Amino acid sequence: MATDITHEELETTAELLALIEDPAGREVYDPATNELIGRTGETDAAGVDDAVVRARKAQQSWALMTHESRSDFLHKVADAIESVAEPLAELLSREQGKPLNGPNARFEVDACASWLRAHADFVIEPEVLVDDESGRAEMHYVPVGVVGAVGPWNWPMMISVWQMAPALRMGNAVILKPSEYTPLSVQALVAVMNSVLPVDIVQIVSGGGEIGQALVGHQGVDKVMFTGSVETGKKIMRSAADNLSRLTLELGGNDAGIVLEDAEPEKMAEDLFWGAFINTGQTCAAMKRLYVPASLYERVCDTLVEFAKNMPMGNGLDESNVLGPLQNRAQYDIVERLVEAAKNDGATVLLGGDPDNASVGNFYPTTLVADIDNNNPLVSEEQFGPVLPIIKYDDINQAIEWANGLEVGLGASVWGENSDELKRVASLLEAGSVWLNKHGAIDPRVPFGGVKQSGFGLEFGVDGLKQVALPKVISW
Ligand code: NAD
Repeated sequence: MATDITHEELETTAELLALIEDPAGREVYDPATNELIGRTGETDAAGVDDAVVRARKAQQSWALMTHESRSDFLHKVADAIESVAEPLAELLSREQGKPLNGPNARFEVDACASWLRAHADFVIEPEVLVDDESGRAEMHYVPVGVVGAVGPWNWPMMISVWQMAPALRMGNAVILKPSEYTPLSVQALVAVMNSVLPVDIVQIVSGGGEIGQALVGHQGVDKVMFTGSVETGKKIMRSAADNLSRLTLELGGNDAGIVLEDAEPEKMAEDLFWGAFINTGQTCAAMKRLYVPASLYERVCDTLVEFAKNMPMGNGLDESNVLGPLQNRAQYDIVERLVEAAKNDGATVLLGGDPDNASVGNFYPTTLVADIDNNNPLVSEEQFGPVLPIIKYDDINQAIEWANGLEVGLGASVWGENSDELKRVASLLEAGSVWLNKHGAIDPRVPFGGVKQSGFGLEFGVDGLKQVALPKVISW
């Protein structure tokens, strides 16, 4: 529904909340303090049907607009988000837990605006396939129709924009189903967007997996974009099968980083740290296991401990913190179980690993684990928290084999000085993105997506626009 307010009127988080809250809805709590933040409305199956009917109607005139007109809208939406960036960041920090500072809440809101602007400015023209004496053939890209987008709780606003920006630019209507853990952030973002967009071009249906399922299996949804776990991705593929809906699946990962023999640990410590601990480790393409040659093992461990022990963790609204709590208790329990598995196996905890279970909030301390076997569950399972296992290797071929040994392949990184060797190792890694001397860096111009069970389809760039369009060949 379009919002009746103008975004200029919104100055505080309380005003944002007042706009979206359902006083009779489900309570949502702050993962740092356990305090009540607000109440979210929940959609039922009939509400999903209603949203689809509205979206199909609204999409028709949106699709008829020129690319230039839709790009203008996207820039105006970015302006609106920037004008209320601080209340949006504060709500995000309270609901997700991520601090305002560091690569966290303010960074995420800023990324929403820049992703919208980048997508507004991409050029997508018909491609000439043949043009000779036999005739001419052109590839055109037309809107798919209604996009159903289901999202996770780790980067709730930014990932929603990753789904919405290309879909809107290409002339589609979008129905979002945010994670049940972070509904308010996405509802607030969409309320701000809808102060600019035509009615029903972007709608939200709220609730748990069953509402997600009702959306992705709906006959009136032409394309499904999903970001979340591998397990749910498989269910979504099944739900989309009956309608043969188009699919983009951005699923989980367990990214490896490989340090090479000639690397300089002191130079890399900060980038290694943030590659693993961005968003307190709750990032799909964060480095979740680090392979280090025996010759550098102690130096890498020592420099990482030195850097990590000084990074403050606490309530996100405190300006000094750069690490926060885990967003929910279920994720905290996964992290705790995996670190215990490592300890039971005789691994050495270099830092952290000793949560205070009696304290308020889902804080799990920054944890570095050494002398760990590659088969330990802390290495082989996606832990999605502030933990990094550091695995020693003797031979680079062994490290590559271990890095490729899992069923997922989202990102990977290689660290060292010799660019030929960095590129050689990168070429052997099974991942959708491989970074050299950095990890997890994303750019709206550069396509991003997984291989193996990390999913398929690309987001970002002109390739990302094509994923929310239908190819149509016109020839004469
Ligand atoms: P999740 O799969 O548990 O839930 C994601 C969303 O799916 C939620 O909105 C949930 O309500 C919905 N859902 C659950 N069951 C459904 C069903 N049967 N049909 C339709 N929707 C359903 O994931 P999560 O715990 O919210 O997110 C963490 C996971 O997401 C991690 O594995 C992480 O690696 C992954 N992730 C991937 C990317 C990427 O770009 N590849 C980005 C962020 C997170």
